Amino acid sequence: MKDVRKRYEIICPYCGMVQYACKSIAQEEGLANLGHGVCLECKGFMHIMFDEGAQSMRAEKWEAVQAGSQRWKNEEKAE
Ligand SMILES: [Zn+2]
Repeated sequence: MKDVRKRYEIICPYCGMVQYACKSIAQEEGLANLGHGVCLECKGFMHIMFDEGAQSMRAEKWEAVQAGSQRWKNEEKAE
């Protein structure tokens, strides 16, 4: 199989580095429009959303998404 997956530009919300990501399998199959990734530059943990209407990806800080869930935050730190 050829790799014909489209790559989408995302901008790290921590350091501003532009990088590229493919839609995850889950996103391709319409199971979810959420994903996550790690910045190649600063290793920041990003929450990635796919905007179906704009056909583009957006990344935001993981902490912003998790702000309402202190339990999850503690689990991250325990790693
Ligand atoms: Zn970064």
